[in-house]
Amino acid sequence: MNVSLRSNSIMQAAVFHGGDRITIERVAMPEVAPGEVLVRVSRTALCGSDFKLWHKGAEFTAGHEIFGVVEQPGHAMHGKRCAIYIPLHCGHCAACERGDTQMCLEVSSLIGWNRPGGYAEYVPVPENCLLPVPDDIEDSLAPLLLDVIGTSGHAVRFVNRIVPPREAGPVLVMGAGPVGLGVVLALRSFGYSDIHVADPNGDTSKRFALIMECSGAHAARNLGIELVLPRGALVLVGENAAPWTIEEGKVFRRKDFYMIRTFYFPVSDFKPNIELLRRYKEEYRLLVDGEFGLPQLPENFARFARGELIKPVLALD
Ligand SMILES: [Zn+2]
Ligand SMILES: [Zn+2]
Repeated sequence: MNVSLRSNSIMQAAVFHGGDRITIERVAMPEVAPGEVLVRVSRTALCGSDFKLWHKGAEFTAGHEIFGVVEQPGHAMHGKRCAIYIPLHCGHCAACERGDTQMCLEVSSLIGWNRPGGYAEYVPVPENCLLPVPDDIEDSLAPLLLDVIGTSGHAVRFVNRIVPPREAGPVLVMGAGPVGLGVVLALRSFGYSDIHVADPNGDTSKRFALIMECSGAHAARNLGIELVLPRGALVLVGENAAPWTIEEGKVFRRKDFYMIRTFYFPVSDFKPNIELLRRYKEEYRLLVDGEFGLPQLPENFARFARGELIKPVLALD
């Protein structure tokens, strides 16, 4: 049955209708534009940032932590196992030339957001968004190389230059989700040794030269502003689409400190990120707490939203 579906121009995909409703439907195979290839999705990890689409509905197929196999006979990448880099990038603007491919000045599309993503059997992918995954990385861990390891690794590499381990003292990580754990492991690999993980709402009177805020909660960001030491750095890793108000009280006004936002990661980070995954494979394996097929996506998405799963992964083969 599946075989006949796949040989036709129909595939199965999750449709996010809004109002927390997902259905699995037969839809047309995605169009593959020049410079793109078709990828057969193997694993797509669920991400908390998809809750927004779950509530409001998605114009395009959601899913942005994708790993799959290129299915483009005759193409040099045909049959290659790849993770999918979500920011489209031109490769020649000033940002791309500097290596900042995640903040290309020419194109701003993100796979799984404003073009089709990975909660489907197939996804069209620009050639320069294919990140080949070595064979020693198992399928179910491969999607972690993106948001979980990529985003956290980039944040730590960025701030490492500003507050290096020898000057940091104790480091505070707020938000104990998958990216928070990724940040803890990346910090360890960079030589930060005294790492404290706190719930964003838990109050603490200790102050820190380095705070990695991974929850995206406004309360946690504001707490970070209070707890960061003069000359220290507060790094906003977590996302939040809602407007954020900073109270410009004494705590905010009367100290020098860095407030840093980092986004995703540059393509060139992918190799060091593979090393991070190899080094902490056991820890990362503990994160993935459920694999299921497309028909079970709706119920597992609801469980994920209720906080019953940490990093569930859609598995299509
Ligand atoms: Zn994500
Ligand atoms: Zn560019």
